[in-house]
Amino acid sequence: MRIPLIVGNWKMFTTPAEGADLASDVARRIGGLRGVEVAVAPPFTSLAAVGPAIQGKGIELAAQDLYWEERGPFTGAISHGMLEALGCRYVIVGHSERRKHFGETDQQVNRKVRAAIRGGLRPILCVGEEEGERISGKLRHVIRRQVSRALEDYPAGDARRLAVAYEPVWAIGTGKAASPEDAAEAHRVIRRQLVRILGQEPSAAVRILYGGSVTGENVAGFAARPEVDGVLVGGASLKPADFAAIARGGWEDRPEAG
Ligand code: PEP
Repeated sequence: MRIPLIVGNWKMFTTPAEGADLASDVARRIGGLRGVEVAVAPPFTSLAAVGPAIQGKGIELAAQDLYWEERGPFTGAISHGMLEALGCRYVIVGHSERRKHFGETDQQVNRKVRAAIRGGLRPILCVGEEEGERISGKLRHVIRRQVSRALEDYPAGDARRLAVAYEPVWAIGTGKAASPEDAAEAHRVIRRQLVRILGQEPSAAVRILYGGSVTGENVAGFAARPEVDGVLVGGASLKPADFAAIARGGWEDRPEAG
């Protein structure tokens, strides 16, 4: 049984003080919510302020990225150990905004995933196709390739620490979410690829999240699909009432996952 995971990606929003206020508000609304796991991913500079605001409230801390080296002359980079020292449990890796704006490659994403696992973090690996790739029928090929390359040399024994977020690029921040049926189909492609890479039994522990314009209004459609083990939320995670509605969005009635 995979416990649904709801993650708020705050992107490049919130100062430390704003982050602490937002986190406290979220914790007041959904701290200790049963049946789901909730995490928030503030920018690096707000992690130290957000940690104490959620500590002991049943909400986990996540980072939005990491660098694969442990330490050294890498100006501006942050290692897994630095994130662990701030109490991070999760780290988002390979978000399409990092791929697009910072030129991150599949190979770099792989190094980041392996660095997270080498430490004590749980990577949330983001994959997803561009609109043109979907239209030209390349969806399966693109997401299989992204998953395989990112998980090269991934230890199958650590499968339960991994989550994969299916985030079609055209759905991120556009208000144009994928339909639950389309998301479920992509999740099945990802699940089959995970079986090939990690093996049947280990891969069954991996949670596959949907991300892309999830709101309090459309979340129930995703929660109703057994293929969807949670959501990665951008814009709506900055609005506590919306994020709370997403975390409460019908996950308890979710059909048994396959
Ligand atoms: C995201 O950035 O991961 C995301 C899903 O954003 P939004 O919910 O705003 O589409």
